[in-house]
Amino acid sequence: MLNILKIVKGYYTITLNLNHIACEMLIEKLNHWINPRIRALTLYQVHDATGFVKLDAMENPYTLPSELRQEWLELIQQVPFNRYPDPQAFKLKARLTTSLNLPTKTELLLGNGSDELLQILMLAVNGDNRVILSFEPSFVMYRMIATWIGLEFIGIPLQLPNFNINIDAALEAIARYRPAIIFLAYPNNPTGNLFDAAAIHRIIQAAPGLIVIDEAYAPFTDETWIEKILQYDNLLVLRTVSKMGLAGLRLGYLIGHPAWIKELDKIRMPYNINVLTQITVDWALSHKEIFDMQTRQIRMERERLQQNLSDLPGIIVYPSQANFILFRVNNAPFIFQQLKTHGILIKNLHNSHPMLDNCLRVTVGTAEENNAFFTALTTMLSPLLKN
Ligand SMILES: *Cc1c(COP(=O)(O)O)cnc(C)c1O
Repeated sequence: MLNILKIVKGYYTITLNLNHIACEMLIEKLNHWINPRIRALTLYQVHDATGFVKLDAMENPYTLPSELRQEWLELIQQVPFNRYPDPQAFKLKARLTTSLNLPTKTELLLGNGSDELLQILMLAVNGDNRVILSFEPSFVMYRMIATWIGLEFIGIPLQLPNFNINIDAALEAIARYRPAIIFLAYPNNPTGNLFDAAAIHRIIQAAPGLIVIDEAYAPFTDETWIEKILQYDNLLVLRTVSKMGLAGLRLGYLIGHPAWIKELDKIRMPYNINVLTQITVDWALSHKEIFDMQTRQIRMERERLQQNLSDLPGIIVYPSQANFILFRVNNAPFIFQQLKTHGILIKNLHNSHPMLDNCLRVTVGTAEENNAFFTALTTMLSPLLKN
């Protein structure tokens, strides 16, 4: 039965009466037609952060000066959104190359966030007995997207106490599984460290397939693998503008040898980068000095917060080269909840991986946000420490 309910601002709102659909029949169909691998998944949940000091998602906390916002508003007034965007995003690619000092002999592939590029990479190599390999704990999307697509995923455990790569275990797994792609986050999320460069060179040399170094946190470290791309025939570097301060625009880019990029480009949705994103990122990068200033501020705040946290007794702080800090407490779920009651949202990693037992991850915010977080944490740790 179709009910036409009411007219809101000239549009019909149509609701379906679902009561007559028999539940068992529907579930039978879901079970039959939805791939069992997908059926077994749970939805990727993002916490509702309304009203919180938001330190959970590695966002840049700063906004732009009002004159710049005005300049942007004037620019987007002219956007022809009745037209499809430039499918090659030619102007934006040129801007990325010059603004970010990318090598000119390599090619770029743009994605709707670097998440989309991870998906394109895995779709491109998909086939029987193909394996994706990475290290754990790391960025959860590597495993998640592999599972969606039906690729086998192998996660090599990192080594405590510092979440380094166990090179013997890595080389053994590479020989055994011959992975189509190895994903390596550099710096790693959620641990914040840079893996040993010598170990990475050995992994690249041992890898029969591709190795993708995910530099999502490039703005917060001086280290990069970009210059090595033309030195190896199997190395790609993945980046994003999300963490530098443009997370809402959804733009990731993959840098690599033109031969690899050409194959991957075949399975990219033709208009995956919308007009507003193309024009806005191009414009934002023409003011890159503002973002560089914010990045420097975040790096300074990271050092300050790291120092303050290390001075607290009873917690272990992991050194970070990113815009977040991982730390271990005695009772992470309790601390996480208590911070929430103080209006502060961070990320609880307890139960996400055995190596992250009682771990929490805080994104570096503004000085005020970091102080609010630190003060709240100190007050809730002190009574615990007296026992
Ligand atoms: C945040 C993050 C990404 C995703 O970036 P988007 O471009 O926003 O999709 C990729 N890799 C790592 C390691 C990240 O932490």
